[in-house]
Amino acid sequence: MRFGGFQPFSLSDYPGHVAAIAFAQGCNFRCPFCHNGDLLAAIPSEKNLYPESEILRTLERRMGQLEGLVMSGGEPTLQEDLPRFLATVKGLGYRVKLDTNGSRPDVLAQLFAQDLVDYVAMDIKAPLAKYNRLSGVAVDTSAIEESIALITWSKLPHHFRTTAVGPLLSDSDMHAIAAMTPKDSELVVQPFDPENALDPALRTEAAIA
Ligand code: SF4
Repeated sequence: MRFGGFQPFSLSDYPGHVAAIAFAQGCNFRCPFCHNGDLLAAIPSEKNLYPESEILRTLERRMGQLEGLVMSGGEPTLQEDLPRFLATVKGLGYRVKLDTNGSRPDVLAQLFAQDLVDYVAMDIKAPLAKYNRLSGVAVDTSAIEESIALITWSKLPHHFRTTAVGPLLSDSDMHAIAAMTPKDSELVVQPFDPENALDPALRTEAAIA
């Protein structure tokens, strides 16, 4: 797989577990509030990719200290060898948490069927009518709805999450997002950090205010 980064230790990214975080390189969204701009290009021209072998070596070394791997990004489900990589990680005895934008329900279904994921965190970026604006691309919103349903039916531990981008999401938008969230699922609202937003217009003082 192509990885743009690796964090060997986190207490806060996998609920209830000490975990490492692997960042998949490449994303099909261009959310204006994204703060991972250097992870978005599928094949970056000026960035060294992080070798998969080093990630696996670290996980082997840290067995007994770490409990899980957070597969984040970028958008991990875009990479064809994600199932192979996660199977290797699971083979080492690790739990896997997948962070996803929900654009590839076909891949989620495959990963769930193969028992390669133990926890899912999916973004709900906006009410469906505003999805294109908040994701920065034309989104097939039926795929987003399908992913929400798949995650709910999977019975896997999960949560949905939304970044409260004040300049782009009104209170009524936030209510609409809450209404899209299945009733037994948690919606985590994350604060918006304007400092490193992908869209420079969101970094201005006016946007911050
Ligand atoms: S915030 Fe948006 S653009 Fe950034 S990695 Fe996540 S889905 Fe991709």
